[in-house]
Amino acid sequence: HAKDNVRGSFYEYEDSLESEAKNNLIIQTLLKQAITNNELEVHYQPQVNANGKLFGAEALVRWPNSPQGPISPAVFVPIAEQSGLIHKLGDWVFERCIEQLTVWHNNNQFDGHLSINVSAWQFALPGFVERTTERIKRSNLPISYFCIELTETGLLSDIGDTVNKLKQLRTFGLKIALDDFGTGYSSLAYLQQLPLDILKIDKLFVDELETNATSSLASTMISMSHQMKLDVVAEGVETAQQVDALEALKCDIYQGYHFAKPMPAVEFIEWTHRYTTPLNQPDSSRSK
Ligand code: C2E
Ligand code: MG
Ligand code: MG
Ligand code: MG
Repeated sequence: HAKDNVRGSFYEYEDSLESEAKNNLIIQTLLKQAITNNELEVHYQPQVNANGKLFGAEALVRWPNSPQGPISPAVFVPIAEQSGLIHKLGDWVFERCIEQLTVWHNNNQFDGHLSINVSAWQFALPGFVERTTERIKRSNLPISYFCIELTETGLLSDIGDTVNKLKQLRTFGLKIALDDFGTGYSSLAYLQQLPLDILKIDKLFVDELETNATSSLASTMISMSHQMKLDVVAEGVETAQQVDALEALKCDIYQGYHFAKPMPAVEFIEWTHRYTTPLNQPDSSRSK
């Protein structure tokens, strides 16, 4: 009977919710241990300028050997956010990035900027600005190395507080990037109030560039960003056609598998040594 089917599917749905909740709890417990035991890694994905030169990198956390196999940050970061573990995770990533930048700086291996993802929960916690600026000061690294990436949704809740914090961070010299632009809810009017340096166009909008570049949303986003004096990073650039289209639209910075995937620190530096490819040609040395 139809009624039985409805009831049946409802219970299956409930069961799957319950097992998902259980698994989240397991992941949460394992993640906590993984952080403590230093089992996470940070990988680095190159970002390239419009002139083809290296601009910097984005730091992306990895959990390669969880008891459940490799788990994506797209899965465990939200679980960390729900459980409050995000603060411990975020601190660990930041610390790791500072250590890595220190090594690179001392060996003259890198002088771009490193973009670090910061969760809305970290940003909202009182003292975030003070702790972040203090930690950077103690590192004695040039402030120009540092950029933080925040998502629109994370900045929405309290605009006054958000603007205040962003102003303090920028006065200190930290660059601010708005991540995943176009996927949240913010209006243009809202966005204009935010003191930002960089706007990252989500992969979603880069994907559609294969077809119609000039009438694309990416085109609108780029010209709007430039009017607001922001630099634009295109995320998830995978093809030479997308690079061509983005070049025509005067995109400033490019990031995606077309150039390189996120890599462990040593591989990242090796990549920067052999990277000489023009913007619109795939780096053949990359694919193994
Ligand atoms: P995100 O910050 O928007 O990072 C970009 C994501 O796109 C990364 O996924 C990156 O590996 C992927 N990507 C880059 N180029 C391409 C491409 O050409 N094609 C495709 N298909 N994907 C590409 P990843 O590393 O799995 O991270 C997913 C999300 O997890 C990140 O999205 C970010 O929101 C979050 N995340 C990662 N690391 C951290 C972290 O250290 N802290 C926090 N709070 N969140 C993080
Ligand atoms: Mg990001
Ligand atoms: Mg993004
Ligand atoms: Mg994303």
